Amino acid sequence: MTAASDLIQPNGQGSAKICLGCWDQMHVPIPIRGPLALPFRAFGITRSKMNPNICTICERSFRYVKKKRHVTVSATILFADIRGFTRLSERIDPVKLSELVSMFQDLCAQAIWAHDGIVNKQMGDGLMAIFNFPIKIGDHAGAAIMAARDIQRRCTAALDRLNADLDSSHGPALGVGVGVHTGDVEIGEFSTFRSDFTAIGGAVNLAARLESKAAAGEILVSDATAAQAPDRMTGAEPRLLALKGIAQPVQARVLIKS
Ligand SMILES: [Zn+2]
Repeated sequence: MTAASDLIQPNGQGSAKICLGCWDQMHVPIPIRGPLALPFRAFGITRSKMNPNICTICERSFRYVKKKRHVTVSATILFADIRGFTRLSERIDPVKLSELVSMFQDLCAQAIWAHDGIVNKQMGDGLMAIFNFPIKIGDHAGAAIMAARDIQRRCTAALDRLNADLDSSHGPALGVGVGVHTGDVEIGEFSTFRSDFTAIGGAVNLAARLESKAAAGEILVSDATAAQAPDRMTGAEPRLLALKGIAQPVQARVLIKS
């Protein structure tokens, strides 16, 4: 008999044999890899597109997993998008554009999964990730910062190649902007016609606003996140930001790709 702990292998690389979300949230071992997963697959329970280490039960049956419509969770939210994309989209071939978007989404997902986050929403040239739900992460602020650095590292190499091919008439060079914030969020199913969960609340909005202020190559980290993961903030510089919808200027920290 194999112990459940032997099946978890939480290394974030898409190799756990049971769903880490169902295990962390309910302590129920749902097989997602290997022969034990086959009967579950017959019932449509398979690996989630949000993270290959969670299953479609925790993605689509939030109410079943939590027995509630929504829960308050301390989480770190990460937003990323491609700077210079809108201008580029008016000037290059749609096929090339879609290749760029899928490359960006794939590189970001690998970085997020490597740190046990989930890709909760994909919006064209942007995405939103959640750290600490449904997979629990002790240091979710630090995990999100490491994922953000990883996103910058992976995307820079790919986008620099593209920038070299595009002449300056295509507009400013392409790069990625990232925003990260930690706080209490409401997680649940908030739509009557969609059955997957998402996070809402002021903390989500602040992460999105920070990302909107990040220039190409920058990671804007809120003070709340930085305070929880000081050892991940080496080289960060303070920046005072005027954010839409927030009366007082917001103090944030800027990490620039190295
Ligand atoms: Zn699950």
